[in-house]
Amino acid sequence: MELLDLTALQLGQKIKSGEIGVREAAAASISRIRAAEPAVHSFVSFNEEAALTRADEIQKKIDAGELSSPLAGVPMAVKDNICTKGVATTCSSRMLENFVPTYSANAWHLLENAGAVMLGKTNLDEFAMGSTTETSYFGATRNPWDPSRVPGGSSGGSAAAVAAGEAFYTLGSDTGGSIRQPAAFCGVTGIKPTYGSVSRYGLVAFASSLDQIGPIGRDAADCAAVLAEIMKHDRRDSTSVPTAAPGLSAVQNGSVKGMKIGIPKNFYGEGLDSEVRDTILKAAEQFRAMGAELEEFEMPIVKYAVPTYYILATAEASSNLARYDGVKYGYRAKDYADLAELYTKTRSEGFGMEVKRRILLGCFVLSSGYYDAYYLKALKVRALIKQAFDRAFEKYDMILAPTAPTTAYKIGENTGDPLKLYLGDIYTAMINIVGLPALTAPCGFDAKGLPVGMQLIGRPFGEEVLLTAACAYQRETDFHRRRPSAFLKGGDAQ
Ligand code: GLN
Repeated sequence: MELLDLTALQLGQKIKSGEIGVREAAAASISRIRAAEPAVHSFVSFNEEAALTRADEIQKKIDAGELSSPLAGVPMAVKDNICTKGVATTCSSRMLENFVPTYSANAWHLLENAGAVMLGKTNLDEFAMGSTTETSYFGATRNPWDPSRVPGGSSGGSAAAVAAGEAFYTLGSDTGGSIRQPAAFCGVTGIKPTYGSVSRYGLVAFASSLDQIGPIGRDAADCAAVLAEIMKHDRRDSTSVPTAAPGLSAVQNGSVKGMKIGIPKNFYGEGLDSEVRDTILKAAEQFRAMGAELEEFEMPIVKYAVPTYYILATAEASSNLARYDGVKYGYRAKDYADLAELYTKTRSEGFGMEVKRRILLGCFVLSSGYYDAYYLKALKVRALIKQAFDRAFEKYDMILAPTAPTTAYKIGENTGDPLKLYLGDIYTAMINIVGLPALTAPCGFDAKGLPVGMQLIGRPFGEEVLLTAACAYQRETDFHRRRPSAFLKGGDAQ
């Protein structure tokens, strides 16, 4: 098997046994990045020299028996809204173009200690606001399966990098679907953990009550291995919950026998592409064949998911992004007469269109005349959505749903129609509103050859159930092993 075709865990094993050197692995990733970047543009920045130097350091530590993580020495990449000490963290925004954090996000810090070799920082929609990675100040990322199409977003760079074989796994963030939807569009596996299970310390805030960091990998076992490193309590995030990460061997050896899977009918109705629906329902049949029990149920409240999400997320964003004022850090406008003009010019020049739209929307729903009508009402609907899931999980161990209504669309196809893009978040954003864990894994392809991703939704802190189910599914199917043909061979992607 080619080095670049290995999963992160397989590579980690070979590094541990001495069969593959850490530098050799990093060099293979680098040559793939060189070959793929002109077509895909997954990275905002990558640093070959730093990666190779780091690889040598890690090799020494492994040789000295100082690193026990199964991921030690494996090359990976980090979404560029996750702070990496000494390495620019731009959020794909002009506002933070030159921002070099003096500290690392906890999730990255833990991986770094475990011996991860970071190749670079991956592209995203500006401040993680979007579903296509087109709103990046540094230009769009393209889908490795078809470079005329979007990779999804906002973690489009993180998903594309894994799909193109540029990194063995990546970190993403998910506020309303930003790990799961790009994972679906790019045919890779990703999980948004339960709110509170991965520290948000050092994740640049978009909507603090919804944001979570999570892994994107080639399969569910790799995601479980990353979670095992990053799901740790952190006192620096007041919402961090002390909880045990899923056990890797439990996940790898479990089965879905006797598991009760709920199929929410309202997730499969109007607006869902029929090929996507049929593919997800085939996955449901696969789970049945593997011994799970399936049952349909009603969850009509899904129709309120998008409005509720866009009220809560924009409200929180308008407050979180107030910190970019040209004074403390980030971009500062050149000429200004007074403080008010410094603020106005800095924010007008530093933020892109989509970020401005969200700040305005957020200020509107929080304004005194509209707070009750919008923000307060959204909080009430949030409670109702929570109740609907609580009821469902009295009966089911897991819910099976689509991740997105369609497969990847053309670059530019929806840029002028924000509402249409927002509606694409219907199946994912609902999960963040109530903080549940949800995993996306590839389950087939449409007639155009584009990947379809199913979404498995779990009880609070039910990551192990989701990963076990996905691992069992991936033992029986090979959708997660397929690669976009342009990137099949070593470093020579055409
Ligand atoms: N697509 C959603 C949005 O635009 C989700 C973004 C995210 O999860 N960061 O807000």
